[in-house]
Amino acid sequence: MNASSENSLYDLLICGGGLVGASLALMLKPLGLRVALIEAVKFEGAAHPSFDERTTALANGSRRVFEAIGVWPLLQRTATPIRRIHVSDQGRFGFARLSAEEQGLAALGHVVPNWQMGAALWQRLQEEGIEVIAPARVIKLSAAESTRRVTIEVNGQTRELSARLIVAADGAQSLLREAAGIDSTQVDYGQTAIISNALTQRFHDHVAYERFTPNGPLAVLPLSDARVGLIWTVASAQADTVMGWSDEMFLSNFQQAFGFRLGRMLKVGARHAYPLSLIRARQHYAPRVAVLGNAAQMLHPIAGQGLNLGLRDAASLAELLADAQRADTHFDAGCDELLSHYAAWRQEDSKRIVTFTDTLVRLFNQRLGLLKFARDAGLLAFDLMTGAKDAMAQLSMGASTRIPRLARGAPL
Ligand SMILES: Cc1cc2nc3c(=O)[nH]c(=O)nc-3n(C[C@H](O)[C@H](O)[C@H](O)COP(=O)(O)OP(=O)(O)OC[C@H]3O[C@@H](n4cnc5c(N)ncnc54)[C@H](O)[C@@H]3O)c2cc1C
Repeated sequence: MNASSENSLYDLLICGGGLVGASLALMLKPLGLRVALIEAVKFEGAAHPSFDERTTALANGSRRVFEAIGVWPLLQRTATPIRRIHVSDQGRFGFARLSAEEQGLAALGHVVPNWQMGAALWQRLQEEGIEVIAPARVIKLSAAESTRRVTIEVNGQTRELSARLIVAADGAQSLLREAAGIDSTQVDYGQTAIISNALTQRFHDHVAYERFTPNGPLAVLPLSDARVGLIWTVASAQADTVMGWSDEMFLSNFQQAFGFRLGRMLKVGARHAYPLSLIRARQHYAPRVAVLGNAAQMLHPIAGQGLNLGLRDAASLAELLADAQRADTHFDAGCDELLSHYAAWRQEDSKRIVTFTDTLVRLFNQRLGLLKFARDAGLLAFDLMTGAKDAMAQLSMGASTRIPRLARGAPL
């Protein structure tokens, strides 16, 4: 392998062009900084690991971020509004409902296929002339005076690039997080999410269903073309069996767990499996390195919060960079003061969402009768208590203690 020692100094190098890294690159465009996005897999349709067959429930805050970066107009045609959320517990009496109307909103959120978000983001990156280095894999991070250097592998050759700030947006198994010396914790939930989409006898009427079953939670999300997205969480020990079922067998078992709220399940698409863990970085930063998205925290999808939180990570960093640039003529994108502000802001939001999501997973995993009763009573009480519902609605809409400007619809 030939090693070239080409050295280029950037303000920021965003390592990882998944949904979060690509969005950050677009958010930063108005600042006129020297930015490049490095991504291991070139976007060529749904084969991309980040922009695959999954569907994502996007909070209203995330929609506003996508509006700000010009991605939303490209998604509007396929984004399906969620007008109600229905939460229930298989075989129990508790259930809860949330409605956009009650909250005075047009929608609680939107469901968008991941590969379409990927296509829209990559189109916008090109339209904005943002430097994208792909396919290119970051293989090393090293320190230099007042910069950090990454070594990347492109077409079998290595190159070195330097930046004031390195952004680790390289997903849950982040190489950069580790190379920066940031510890992480991992809890294996022993569950695997199996996703697909299906055609149902009855129209979904823009309702998102979340249902807790003895084997794990499942969700049915409204999609365009009157289809629905399925996310079925099963014990990891059963995942191979479920993946091996014929379509008929899968539909019949899913139907049994979900019930007949949408009539009969008629047809199912390809299935994909995602083992679920909670992975958390102990810190959102190290000197001249900011960590965001799944590299900072990978969550169970039970509450549909991972991307929404990751986009708030990106919008917070973009906001702090914009403010620092306005205030300081000797602006340094990787200065410690800026990064420690970023880390403190994100720590608070991340802790809140991780605790909420993890508690939900554990609560609905309990097999003890008393806890089950408390949980059902909780769901019923939740349906009656406007305060609790408002809090849940705020969460599903992407509200947090301090909301970044872009997520509020304000300019950077
Ligand atoms: C089944 C399921 C359902 C979900 N549903 C929802 C939902 O409804 N709502 C929600 O908000 N969230 C949801 N999520 C979570 C959401 O999908 C993730 O939080 C989000 O995709 C994270 O994006 P990311 O860009 O941070 O990371 P990733 O998508 O992991 O992207 C990381 C990128 O970095 C690249 N990369 C990795 N290593 C390197 C390297 N060394 N060099 C260069 N590039 C590299 C990868 O190729 C990849 O493109 C769900 C997750 C799952 C599994």
